[in-house]
Amino acid sequence: MINITNTQELDNPTSDLEIVRRYLDQVKPPKELSKSESSKLEAQLRELMQTKNARLIAHYYSDSSLQDLADDTGGFVGDSLEMARFGRESDADILVVAGVRFMGESAKILSPNKKVLMPTLDATCSLDIACPIETFASFCDEHPDRTVVVYANTSAAVKARSDWIVTSSIALDVVEYLSDEGQKILWAPDKHLGAYIKKTTDADMLLWDAACVVHEEFKARGIKDMLAIYPDAAVLAHPESTDAVLELADVIGSTTQIINEAKRLPNRDIIVATDQGIFHKLQQQNPDKSFIIAPTAGNSAACKSCAHCPWMAMNSFQSMYSSLLQETNEVLVESTLAEQAMKPLQRMLDFAAKNQLRVKGRA
Ligand code: SF4
Repeated sequence: MINITNTQELDNPTSDLEIVRRYLDQVKPPKELSKSESSKLEAQLRELMQTKNARLIAHYYSDSSLQDLADDTGGFVGDSLEMARFGRESDADILVVAGVRFMGESAKILSPNKKVLMPTLDATCSLDIACPIETFASFCDEHPDRTVVVYANTSAAVKARSDWIVTSSIALDVVEYLSDEGQKILWAPDKHLGAYIKKTTDADMLLWDAACVVHEEFKARGIKDMLAIYPDAAVLAHPESTDAVLELADVIGSTTQIINEAKRLPNRDIIVATDQGIFHKLQQQNPDKSFIIAPTAGNSAACKSCAHCPWMAMNSFQSMYSSLLQETNEVLVESTLAEQAMKPLQRMLDFAAKNQLRVKGRA
């Protein structure tokens, strides 16, 4: 298992929010590099990746320098599931995952025979933190009549306890299918995404109470003010945002869908309610369009880096170099757990294939 601070090691955490705040207090952003330091490290990384037959798999929210390096060296930039699938299909010996802990675990579950490294093992996610396996398993045990559907942003242990794993892009389709089959659902961990699916599908869903510290900070009032300045702008929002924000969105979608819709929409100005790391790809693919980050509440108590995930920001050239050079920060998932987690993951992949859905399909 990944060696990351366990919630039990924190002194008397009183609530999930308190646990998340304490994790945020531990976040150390990487040191800024000069241009020449950055170029030197990049050259060293390219050489190391070639020598070790390693590929970099970066999330859309990671630093633009890592995204460019992944694209330039036969690696991949995408959402969490696409990252894991790319890793499985790759002929690399080593996968370096620039993202957060659950992404490294998903890559390892799909590629058990490859070495999976992460620039840092301390990069976690507020959804993962707020859904510890012990309390989650008890919650499931209290509701044996419900099908357990969990979002990809969870630990391998929580995935292994589930019946289905879904990404934000396939969640609606899976829940709609289960609901049509007469099944009642226990959903975890993101309450906003769960509420959005419940509202859209009318399924009988019991929701776990956790949220993403980045998406929860986008404010409807700020978006309304922005629309007064840019009346022709389209609003694209990730479904981890609050209901008030989603009410204002022209398109609600996963990261991949936001990228696709930004290209398709005729609007020149686009307001985006998701992590600003995605702006790199948006701007690369649409140089003639203007992307505006949706307003947040600022640096509030639970959000130290609004509109940018503090844990994603921990990935850098420096941390990647030291991890790859020494082959440290390896992600290990115990084999029985990995086999159990693979079942609900495979169920989702089979569902997508059977229904000819790309896992990056509708929101
Ligand atoms: S942006 Fe939110 S959901 Fe994504 S890794 Fe960060 S805290 Fe988790």
